Amino acid sequence: MEIPKDETEFKLYKLRHSCTHVMAQAVQDLFPGTRLCIGPPVEDGFYYDFEAQKPFTLEDLVKIETRMKEIIKGNFLFEQTTHSKEEALEVFSKRNEKFKCEMIRELPGDTVTFVQHDTFVDLCRGHHAMRTGNLKHFKLLKVAGAYWRGDEKREQLQRIYGTAWPTKDELDTYLIRLEEAKKRDHRELGPRLDLFSIEPDHIGSGLILWHPKGARIRIQMEEYLRNKHLARGYQPVFTPHIGRAELWKTSGHIDFYRENMFAPMDVEGQAYYVKPMNCPFHIAIYKSGLRSYRDLPVKLTELGTVYRYERSGVLHGLLRVRGFTQDDSHIFCRPDQLQTQITEVLELAKEILSDFGFKEYDLKLSTRPQKYVGSPDDWQKAEAALEAGLKASGLPYEIDPGEGVFYGPKIDLKIKDSIGRAWQCSTIQVDFNLPERFGVTYRDDKGHDVRPIMVHRAILGSLERFFGVLVEHYAGAFPVWLAPVQVAVLPISEKLIDYANQIHQEINSAGFRVELDNSNQTIGAKIREATLQKLPYMLVIGEKEKTEGTVAVRNRVGENLGTLKLAAFLSKLKEENESRRGCPASVVDKTVRV
Ligand SMILES: [Zn+2]
Ligand SMILES: [Zn+2]
Repeated sequence: MEIPKDETEFKLYKLRHSCTHVMAQAVQDLFPGTRLCIGPPVEDGFYYDFEAQKPFTLEDLVKIETRMKEIIKGNFLFEQTTHSKEEALEVFSKRNEKFKCEMIRELPGDTVTFVQHDTFVDLCRGHHAMRTGNLKHFKLLKVAGAYWRGDEKREQLQRIYGTAWPTKDELDTYLIRLEEAKKRDHRELGPRLDLFSIEPDHIGSGLILWHPKGARIRIQMEEYLRNKHLARGYQPVFTPHIGRAELWKTSGHIDFYRENMFAPMDVEGQAYYVKPMNCPFHIAIYKSGLRSYRDLPVKLTELGTVYRYERSGVLHGLLRVRGFTQDDSHIFCRPDQLQTQITEVLELAKEILSDFGFKEYDLKLSTRPQKYVGSPDDWQKAEAALEAGLKASGLPYEIDPGEGVFYGPKIDLKIKDSIGRAWQCSTIQVDFNLPERFGVTYRDDKGHDVRPIMVHRAILGSLERFFGVLVEHYAGAFPVWLAPVQVAVLPISEKLIDYANQIHQEINSAGFRVELDNSNQTIGAKIREATLQKLPYMLVIGEKEKTEGTVAVRNRVGENLGTLKLAAFLSKLKEENESRRGCPASVVDKTVRV
């Protein structure tokens, strides 16, 4: 985690960083011989990696916490001192701390700094609380496996996570939020609702299997995205999954991105790589014909599946995977069109994200870094266009000076979910690099071939990741328009199967996703099953309904919505489906508790 610029964030950083030292001391006091690795503050907390003789248990965490409280009570000062590298190596090699020694050798410069409190010394660049007494409101959360340097070929480590806050209230609020998040964890809900699975041993790590129910949601997402893009003048394209090494050489991926690419395969004596990005293919399509200034902007769009080699240590459910599909588009435009294009992308993002139920956004414009390609003048103009585009969109934004990538300024958009967590989602990235590398041009009004501006943009980002966020946002209680099964037909007894079948068929013909439960279970069990699956509507079919030609409607939180003629129910369903109304938060909350 970088040192935060914001004052409050910096205070939290110092607090959590200090906790890592106290935790490390407690661990070594209780488990002598445990080796120290690194212990950084992270979002909402901190961790420390240890090489331990045996894995820590939850009981161990309780003991560590108790020891930490004693150290905190001691109210020791954190003191920083500077040492030569030799001296530092001597101190840590005496203690058999081989990881610290490895770090000392790799650090630049001739000196390093130590930070000490009580009797405990750690290699550390500083930024701590004043005294251990400032760290009262902390909690250790869990233990996880990790590898030294995130490399599965290196030593296996034990990572202890914790959180710390300035006040007891803040700590309690955070712990409640964590409980809430646990109940919504997509890695739990995914298999439980039969949406997707991941089988590291059988299929491979970080590779997602979309089950029929998850796939139905994905089809809704894809259809919706396609229509929105076509309506905005994007042109659909499809591109291959592999491409020749020469292509990735030209694009710069082999030189600058290789560690994230899977090893090449040999095809008739030539190297081919699985694509980590779609951009070079879209450029090839743009370049397939002569483009005049009148043809611009050209907006190519694809739901493009890419593969990136992520180390197994960083893989995380659907959020960090090795194969994913981007809602990827590339805009080629004239400089005078950039601002309008940016505003349009932001409008589209707002439209799409709010239909998926996300109404709060955090936008950031990142400007020219120290190292960059292109001319300062082009950067300045592009940054101005991006900012003007942001202003015109009416969305609040912040500027992050110097945080752009080397090839162009960008806008990042984060969404806020139903329990207040922020998720990185859309990116709009200007690129001065690829058009240069591939010699991309258009013919201007004077007959000269000049470079267009190229913009990479994704709104959902990765479909897999966005789906993971959606599962947690709705706790699996998807709104009608996304729900894999919208209606369950539940006959009370076998005698009613014919009528239930007829209802099922009519709903199906009306274009809705419907399932008939014709098992010989009791109606109570059928309702319970549909409730656990969080299906939006259940139609209970009894003798009375059959005689009257009606259905008894229930929703997923057990509310009785009355007995209706099927046509009346269908018209309500149609309205809800088309409005893309989300499931109200109160309903989602109730489904979390079933
Ligand atoms: Zn430190
Ligand atoms: Zn791209």
